[in-house]
Amino acid sequence: MIQPIKAVFPGSFDPITNGHMDVLSRACKLFPEVTLAVLQNPRKVSKHLFTIEERLEILRKATEHLPNVRVEAFGGLLVDYMRETKATVILRGLRAVSDYEYELQIAHLNRQMNPDVETVFIMAATRWSYVSSSMVKEIASYGSKEITKMVPPASAEALFRKFADLQ
Ligand code: ADP
Repeated sequence: MIQPIKAVFPGSFDPITNGHMDVLSRACKLFPEVTLAVLQNPRKVSKHLFTIEERLEILRKATEHLPNVRVEAFGGLLVDYMRETKATVILRGLRAVSDYEYELQIAHLNRQMNPDVETVFIMAATRWSYVSSSMVKEIASYGSKEITKMVPPASAEALFRKFADLQ
């Protein structure tokens, strides 16, 4: 019998964009439970703008309206986290061909380490294909309000606050 599938959407989400949100809301129609999992690496100096706690708070606010979404941080290998949480699907988003090579390599590595795990790719709507967390941060750093069209309100508020604090 096929068990209800638990999917995990891993990423940096620094911060979550409308591209991520689009992939996530499509996934919510396919899987009964989707966990947004933020990678926590205590050994590495973080290159991220937001701390793990800040990103978790933004993610929780941005997904309040999606009842089958959970938000968590994880450390170590994704496949181990999947085993521990009994999740079998890794969800990743594809924007353009440029994402493909990297994503294919990671998907094969994860399959090698845990053959029971399947990677599922979801394409966001075309209008989000140019949106990335790094571009949004770049635009926000100049104080532009344009980002409100590219990210959920929780991310926009956090970006405005962060760049106001940094000035
Ligand atoms: P990572 O550091 O793991 O790449 P990201 O937060 O940058 O984390 O991205 C997480 C996933 O979301 C990746 O699979 C990425 O390709 C996908 N993604 C990011 N932006 C978009 C977008 N605009 N449309 C579709 N997928 C996206």
